[in-house]
Amino acid sequence: MTFDSPARKPAPGPGKTFRVKSFGCQMNVYDGERMAEMLEAGGYAAAAEGVDADLVVLNTCHIREKAAEKVYSDIGRLKREDGSRPTIAVAGCVAQAEGAEIARRAPSVDVVVGPQAYHRLPDLIARAERGERAIDLDMPLDSKFGALPKRAGGQRPTAFLTVQEGCDKFCTYCVVPYTRGAETSRPFADLIAEARALVAGGVREITLLGQNVNAWDGEDERGRAIGLDGLIRELAKEDGLERIRYTTSHPNDMTDGLIAAHGEVDKLMPFLHLPVQAGSDRILAAMNRSHSVESYLRVIERVRAVRPDIAISGDFIVGFPGESEADFEETLAIVRATQYAMAYSFKYSRRPGTPAATMDGQVEEAVMNDRLQRLQALLNEQQQAFNERTVGRATRLLLERRGKHDGQLIGKSPWLQSVHVTAPGLMIGDMVEVRITSAGPNSLGAEPLMEEVA
Ligand code: SAM
Ligand code: SF4
Repeated sequence: MTFDSPARKPAPGPGKTFRVKSFGCQMNVYDGERMAEMLEAGGYAAAAEGVDADLVVLNTCHIREKAAEKVYSDIGRLKREDGSRPTIAVAGCVAQAEGAEIARRAPSVDVVVGPQAYHRLPDLIARAERGERAIDLDMPLDSKFGALPKRAGGQRPTAFLTVQEGCDKFCTYCVVPYTRGAETSRPFADLIAEARALVAGGVREITLLGQNVNAWDGEDERGRAIGLDGLIRELAKEDGLERIRYTTSHPNDMTDGLIAAHGEVDKLMPFLHLPVQAGSDRILAAMNRSHSVESYLRVIERVRAVRPDIAISGDFIVGFPGESEADFEETLAIVRATQYAMAYSFKYSRRPGTPAATMDGQVEEAVMNDRLQRLQALLNEQQQAFNERTVGRATRLLLERRGKHDGQLIGKSPWLQSVHVTAPGLMIGDMVEVRITSAGPNSLGAEPLMEEVA
């Protein structure tokens, strides 16, 4: 997945222009937006659509080999017809993992900056403009967040808010603990302040982000220790904030309090992204997931007990070293047992430096392709079935963008489905009551029941 920074109006007058291109996870999207805000505060203007920028930031993803390699072809494409090129900064997890190697493989790169040091981007760019190659892969103890400009709402009614970064779980296939560093939680007061600024700027839905978002912990304003559920309950008190979501969660960090919040906090949307990765306890142990099939299913059961309509989403890896056909069939079995509303599935990608990269029993590409196809066929069937079950239901949408047709808008249902609705007078940012009328695999249709509510 790639995400361009939101279309912003270029600032009038002279000055340099920039473009930030983010790849990979939603945390990268958040980081990309913060970099864009920082560059704007420093006098840069976002380049208009289709126009070359003076500065391009490639905010990269290292999670799988294909994603990591993409950065090199992207750098090549930045060369203009007249042979010139913009100032190029490589940020994100490829920058952290490959560091000086990027400068060696791609000499046109001016700045390399890791995900914990991007608040220093303006200084690094200034150094690059003086002809230096600027590399900063520090993971400073002082969080970058304090050094970033204060947030305001954007042009969209939804926003991401990173509350937690890094990971201490060390799944044997994963680069995140190495590229994003140790698990850290942002302070409660900073998060409440950032959320209030977003809401004051028109944001109505906030998605709390973290590599293991449900490992967030902190102290509330009275000094009491709280977990993610406490933060969600506090945020739910904010007038103007209509919806709260969070992602990505680890099964072991689904606390009793967080499960209970799904039954008690109206603003917490009925959606849970809970990756399991595999359905065989043997493979889960080799992955160092530290949960079992049974403990995962138990969490799902408990969440469904308090919120029966909750949409469950997940992540899967097929072809982890040593995965046999019987192991893979157990993955299909856990999918059948869970009944997902949507899910992401990947072929195992061997990442240098991770324990799994040197394990015996690496699975052949053809076998991985076959397993991925079978898994995705089942997941697609379940997604279609989930969507069909919502047909006929009355629900509320938050309208997020325009559709292709005149007067058509696309909003999100509480279950994170994209829903098309056409009605005069509706605007992006409206909450609207609708009845779902049709369901496809990736989107639904709806009719409005009444004009803007709330
Ligand atoms: N912390 C989350 C969790 O515990 O599931 C996941 C975060 S990770 C950035 C997102 C997803 O990428 C993982 O859930 C996993 O499915 C996938 N992933 C990570 N490393 C991978 C690898 N080496 N090969 C294939 N998929 C991988
Ligand atoms: Fe990676 Fe595992 Fe940490 Fe998720 S929990 S970020 S998959 S190491």
